[in-house]
Amino acid sequence: MPKLNEHYQDLKESYLFAEIAHRVSAYSAAHPEQTVIRLGIGDVTLPLGSLALEGLHRGVDAMSSPDTFKGYGPEQGYAFLREAISAYYEKNGADVSADDIFISDGAKSDTGNIAELFADDNVILIPDPVYPVYVDSNLMSGRRITYLNGNAENQFLPMPDESIHADIIYLCSPNNPTGAVYNKGQLKIWVDYALKNSAVILFDSAYEAFITDPELPRSIYAIEGAKRCAIEFCSLSKTAGFTGTRCGYTVVPKELVFPASNGAEMSLHAMWNRRQSTKFNGTSYIVQSGAAAVFTEDGMKQCQANIHYYQENARIIADTLTRKNIRFFGGVHSPYIWFECPNQMDSWEFFDYLLNNAQVVGTPGAGFGENGKNYFRLTSFNSHENTIEAMKRFEKLF
Ligand SMILES: *Cc1c(COP(=O)(O)O)cnc(C)c1O
Repeated sequence: MPKLNEHYQDLKESYLFAEIAHRVSAYSAAHPEQTVIRLGIGDVTLPLGSLALEGLHRGVDAMSSPDTFKGYGPEQGYAFLREAISAYYEKNGADVSADDIFISDGAKSDTGNIAELFADDNVILIPDPVYPVYVDSNLMSGRRITYLNGNAENQFLPMPDESIHADIIYLCSPNNPTGAVYNKGQLKIWVDYALKNSAVILFDSAYEAFITDPELPRSIYAIEGAKRCAIEFCSLSKTAGFTGTRCGYTVVPKELVFPASNGAEMSLHAMWNRRQSTKFNGTSYIVQSGAAAVFTEDGMKQCQANIHYYQENARIIADTLTRKNIRFFGGVHSPYIWFECPNQMDSWEFFDYLLNNAQVVGTPGAGFGENGKNYFRLTSFNSHENTIEAMKRFEKLF
């Protein structure tokens, strides 16, 4: 009989989206005449840009002839894509070498798998509320987590407590679910704290392309010293609408070298390379060919046009909340708007209230951690028409 990894018993039932779907279908069955508008979606809805599509087609065509056919690719990803990403970083004010970039099938797998490089007895800081992957991937190996409280007082941007030591720190900016973004000064404090503690920051920048203020950092490597303490995860999912196409990238600087207990020096870059080449055989050439087209100047313009569409929706939601005097976070450099549930409702009560009285679906903050239990997330991933209609209905309620 196998002995099982019983730490899986410690995971909370991942019932959030299943429960939402269940409540929505029960409502629709009872009220077939009502049209329900979904603003809970954490997934892009606009199609890929024409240049990304052409890149994908070129990749497919290459498979048709013996001269251009591709089998297994280079383990870290094709150089043409890593170089394009390195140039993109440069435009965004960060110096990242193509050699330090690993191409993957997305940031979810990498943010989950990175935990394998670290022992089980580290002090691990994870913000709450947060993207659930960081928490669950640590609970799966029985690790203890110290939560960093995000709340209205700190604008959902928790800062380090200098009196506690940490070894590993997860940060996500712009944040899912709160939409909050760290500025350079705040990230500098995190980087200095990590350097002082010899800690590693695991920085998720999946939403960097939503940042419009040039003063806000789009990468942790825009901060002096970050290459000595940070790994960064990014993805084409939200940048280029690749949630179904699948492509991400992770930067593991060669500077990240730490002493092992036997006195040997261990490089996180070398360890990640070993981990990936053992357990992952790369992202398809076809997808990498499409991804490279995203990083051309015109390819990125097409991505920005889609992002702009979502940002308009975010503005419509934000304007409504402002008119109703409901305080919110995010919605500017992020597709997410996060606000306290009106009238002291908890997030599931508010979910039901909004569904029953406005036929609008959002995401209860409780699904993202303790500090989310009185908050609610709306997203801009729907059409203008539906967003406007949803906000008209919302406006009548309060
Ligand atoms: C959507 C999202 C990602 C991207 O995940 P992929 O696996 O690349 O699709 C990463 N981090 C956060 C916080 C996200 O919300």
